[in-house]
Amino acid sequence: MTLKQRLTDKALELGFEDVGFTTTEPLDLYIKEIESRPEMYQWVTDMGADLKQGAALSKNHPWAKSMVVLIINYYKKQFPPQLVGKFGRCYQIDDRIAQQDWVVSITNFLGFLGEEGVRFHRGEEIPARMSAARAGVATYGKNCFAYARKSIMGASWLLSVPILLDARIEPDEPSIEVGCPSWCKNACIAACPTGALYKPKKMNPLKCIAYNTYYAQGITPMELREPMGRWIYGCDRCQAVCPRNEPWMNQDLPENPPLIERAGDFQPEILLTMSQDHYENKVWPLMFYISKKNIGKWKMNAARALGNMGDDRYVPILAQALADNPDETVRGMCAWSLGRLGGSKAKASLESRLPNEDGLVEGEINLALAKI
Ligand code: SF4
Ligand code: SF4
Repeated sequence: MTLKQRLTDKALELGFEDVGFTTTEPLDLYIKEIESRPEMYQWVTDMGADLKQGAALSKNHPWAKSMVVLIINYYKKQFPPQLVGKFGRCYQIDDRIAQQDWVVSITNFLGFLGEEGVRFHRGEEIPARMSAARAGVATYGKNCFAYARKSIMGASWLLSVPILLDARIEPDEPSIEVGCPSWCKNACIAACPTGALYKPKKMNPLKCIAYNTYYAQGITPMELREPMGRWIYGCDRCQAVCPRNEPWMNQDLPENPPLIERAGDFQPEILLTMSQDHYENKVWPLMFYISKKNIGKWKMNAARALGNMGDDRYVPILAQALADNPDETVRGMCAWSLGRLGGSKAKASLESRLPNEDGLVEGEINLALAKI
């Protein structure tokens, strides 16, 4: 049996959905895409990362002779209705802190590579979707997501895990192509609430809800607050509306009791008022892109989501946070949400707080009052 067959068999035995192999030449198409619109990716550089560097493959790792890409299906169980539409599905089951599920499978696969005497590099800096397409295990959607080519009923609910190898393994046929049916007239673009998807295969991360809920600094720009709706952390609307995902989503999948049990910890009113202890022990271990020191970012997102609920039951909790939260971005967003919910109680809370505020929050209160 060839090494390729042994690695494939092992990966499938460990529960990966599919396995593909490709070369280690730089992912040039990815590099060109980043270079074509640098203004949309400057924030990555500002964070100290280098997207193009990860795509250089053989230039960074001259010893590597091939790359294997493993496909993980993260939608094997239902997602709790309380979390859907507020938290992107991929974040609800992220195993990287708990390390009880697919991280174990990856570790076991890396162990198998060691047993086979294969040197490897598993780097999260390697562009995963483009690697999967070049290894023939995924195609693209016009929403920029990777869709399984032969597994998961063709759905996009996948993670791709690229691993460089020092063994020369015959590459599979690449599938760097859009696999959307011609009859779908860009449902993903129409559904994107913020206009981040601005044409087929083009997404502006600066307008994407995902970026704005966990990476963006400061208070969320005014023009995005309403379109961001109830999303608190990430977004998967452009995948949820996609007909390529229907066959998978229409199945009767099992429930996920541990996730159902945790769902209460993530309700927006809980997040707005949570303690540092709740954040560090209940929230952060599952959704960890926002630092433990930045609890205010979570509270600001929760405040904005509550303002978009259209339910004046949330006025008292927003008024309380406007009065006592120490973070001006949280208070500023509470003011916006009170203005959006409106009514005499919201107006009274804004007016009573106004004399105590200046700068950002004073400006937000005045704008909110002008709306009521
Ligand atoms: S919604 Fe339509 S155009 Fe968008 S990714 Fe899905 S099939 Fe393609
Ligand atoms: S994740 Fe949400 S905001 Fe981002 S492109 Fe998709 S639909 Fe638009």
